[in-house]
Parts: sequence; structure tokens; C-alpha cells
Amino acid sequence: MHFIDVGQGDSTLIVTEKKVVLIDSGETEYGNTVIEYIEKLGISKLDIVIGSHPHSDHIGSLSQVVDKFDVDRLILPKMTKDMIPDTVCYTNLIRSADKKKAKVSFVRGGEELVLSDDCRIDILAPVSDYDDLNNYSVVCKLIHGENSFLFTGDIETSAEYDVVEGGADLSANVLKVPHHGSATSSSYKFLKTVRPTYAVISVGSPNDYGHPNKAVFERYKEFECKRYRTDVNGDIVFKSDGVKLIIETENKNSHV
Ligand SMILES: [Zn+2]
Repeated sequence: MHFIDVGQGDSTLIVTEKKVVLIDSGETEYGNTVIEYIEKLGISKLDIVIGSHPHSDHIGSLSQVVDKFDVDRLILPKMTKDMIPDTVCYTNLIRSADKKKAKVSFVRGGEELVLSDDCRIDILAPVSDYDDLNNYSVVCKLIHGENSFLFTGDIETSAEYDVVEGGADLSANVLKVPHHGSATSSSYKFLKTVRPTYAVISVGSPNDYGHPNKAVFERYKEFECKRYRTDVNGDIVFKSDGVKLIIETENKNSHV
């Protein structure tokens, strides 16, 4: 599990025994960073690409990445017609996936992606309709033996409540902190349900948004969560054998 440092944005690469999954790739200028990172690992095919939601800090460079590798499937959140953006990055992404003859799926919570016998991704959200794109983020949980990782895109409190109240099993060892640690996410109710041991905040330094919010950052401490952040630790890698987790960081080999 590679949390790639893409400044103020998100990008996570999941490398399993049989399949490779990429969730987001950051702003347009981070396309080469992500492409080079993937190439260095000797990977030439992305089985599944997930665009958590159509904001440029998540999918800005995703069409460049899809252009570069073989891609089987592109997953995007299923939104109401009036919410589907006509932005360049979204349009380019769909066009790139079509060019690669990748299957494009618009999903809601309830789907399952089997990666191998002991590894799968449960798609948990979106579970409702929203009038902003952050809350439409695909929330998904990777389960590998006893280890689990929860990816949340930029969901804010209302989507957090919806997914908690929907009754899905949100418990996870590792949480990709929603919305870069913004004050509008990481509610008590959500954290009490997820109960993460490790929190990863994907954030740029400096950024214009004040991410991560100080109170939110402290809240994770209250939950006795070990916190990692890409602006301090650089690329953050979790290695799972299904039981243990080994954590390696680019800059500083400890949590903050
Ligand atoms: Zn974002």
C-alpha cells in the first residue's frame, strides 16, 4: 500500500499478489511523479483505477496515468446527472479510459472487487445523493487477512454519517484521513466507528486550506492513533502479510 506524496492531493497505489489498483493521482503537475513511481516498481498494468471524486487534486493527472499504462477498469462514483462535471480533467479521464477500452463503472456502496483469494475491496459509499462533489467520494475498504485499509476521498461529515448509519463494517487498521484532515471531516462518530490504529493524511506543505486542521489532528491523538502525513513523511508504504503491518516512510521513519 503506497501513499504517494503528491503535495496537496491524494494518490494511493495498492499492489497485491495478482492485481494492482490505483486510487487517484493528484493534480495535473503530479502526473509524472505518479507514473515514475509506478514504473519504478516494474508495473505496466493497472487492473483497476478508482477516481474517488471529480476534483482536480484527485483526478487532475489521472488521464495522463491511464494513457501511460494498460488499464482494465475505471471506477467513478455514480452521481446525479446535474452533478456530473464538464471539467477538462473529468472529460479527459473518460476519454482516456475509452481509448484504452477500459470498462468504466459508476458505483454506489455495496459492490465488491475481488483481488485474490485473501484480498478484496468492498465499496461502501456513496450511499446517498449530495449537492457537492466531496461527499460523493467513493469510500472503499481493502481487506487483506486481518488487516484493513479504509479510503475515504474527501467525504465530509454528512457523508460520514450516512455511511456510518448505513451499517457497513467500517472498522479498519489504517484510515486514509478524509479530505486531507479538513475541519469538515473526521467527526467523532466516524472515528469511533472506524477506530483506526494508523491515520494517513495526504497533504501539501504549505497549502491554502490550513489542512490538516489542528483540532482534527489532535482528535486522532485522542483515539490513540499513530499519525503519518505525506508533507512530513513523504511517500508512506504499508506492507501487509495479512497479519502484520510494516511501515516505511521516505523522509522520517516514524509517525508524527
Ligand atoms: Zn481533495
